[in-house]
Amino acid sequence: QDKHYLMIPGPTPVPPAVTAAMSMPIIGHRTDAFAKIHERIVEKLKLVFQTKNDIFVLTNTGTGALETAIANTVSPGDKVLSLITGNFGERFANIAKAYNAEVIEVNFGYGNDVDLAVVEKKLAEHPDVKVVLATQNETSTGVCNDIEGIGALVAETPALLLVDGVSGVGAIEIKVDQWGVDMLCTASQKAFMLPPGLAMVSVSDKAWEVSKNNKSPRFYFSLPAFKKVYDKWNTAYTPAVSLFYGLEASLDMMLAEGLDNVYARHALLAKATRAGVRALGLKLLAEDRCASNALTGVWGPEGIGADDLRKIIKNEYGVTFAGGQGAVKGKGFRIAHMGFCDRMDVIIAISALEMALAKAGYEFQLGAGVKAAQEVLLGR
Ligand code: PMP
Repeated sequence: QDKHYLMIPGPTPVPPAVTAAMSMPIIGHRTDAFAKIHERIVEKLKLVFQTKNDIFVLTNTGTGALETAIANTVSPGDKVLSLITGNFGERFANIAKAYNAEVIEVNFGYGNDVDLAVVEKKLAEHPDVKVVLATQNETSTGVCNDIEGIGALVAETPALLLVDGVSGVGAIEIKVDQWGVDMLCTASQKAFMLPPGLAMVSVSDKAWEVSKNNKSPRFYFSLPAFKKVYDKWNTAYTPAVSLFYGLEASLDMMLAEGLDNVYARHALLAKATRAGVRALGLKLLAEDRCASNALTGVWGPEGIGADDLRKIIKNEYGVTFAGGQGAVKGKGFRIAHMGFCDRMDVIIAISALEMALAKAGYEFQLGAGVKAAQEVLLGR
């Protein structure tokens, strides 16, 4: 199978303009030229993050972004309220545990989003919570959380709000300043349409204050160390120079499309994917209310192994979906529609799903899913 369609929630396909930008000759990172690229990238990222806060572009992965947030704000013994809606919420909590925080884990269950009433209750029960951890877009289930609502509750307390936006930022709108997000963490390989390797983290004034006196050991993850050189060279170490070129190209693409249009495109693709899956009689992981616009989680059909189905989709048609994670492992799959993705990608995804279902002996009307997706894409 030569022709391949990557439809996993990261890494995602990279547009030709971004690949071309990354092929430019490497320059030294301690040069005016690199400092200018860095400065432009940060200004453009501020538009995506909707913030005036500092943003650090780190040579790291999404997990590195999360660890950066924790290492700089959580001291040993601090109380951390962790709002968990899947695997990545669990990971955020585990990082806090690795830094010896006293973590209060609230698990809302697979396929559910954060219940604000529960958050309000937990914050009232634990007025000494120092840091709240939340996931904007839970990649393991395809659930999107109400960061605005969580932010409003945390703002009533002295706690910091750290948000994992690794698979959400760039696909789903986030307003860092207005919603009170103290640190927003994201990474390059999802909606930013880049290869893996860059992490982006914004830091509010409040988070800076905590960071200065934080007692956790940190070296590569130390934001004060990065801050010292931020205005001049941007990085204390050697950054992934080529990825910075690519990031500027992908930000230019996003801004040229218009961020509102980028978000509307993701919303349309999600709606079409969900309609297609439903028309095939398959169950969606997330309710419409909290369904992600970046990816769609699907339960496999009764009697047919979800991983076997994925194998047919991959081996026969060259389309890669992601498997289920956590409670959904082996029982479901995930279709990504984030980043460099458009309407025909959804048609390919649903069509490949239908053909694999037909091969696996599932009873349904061939074409029903594609038709339902087309209706949505036609605005009918
Ligand atoms: N958080 C979320 C929500 C993610 O989707 C991912 C990657 N799938 C991560 C964190 C971890 O990112 P990385 O694999 O780049 O470390």
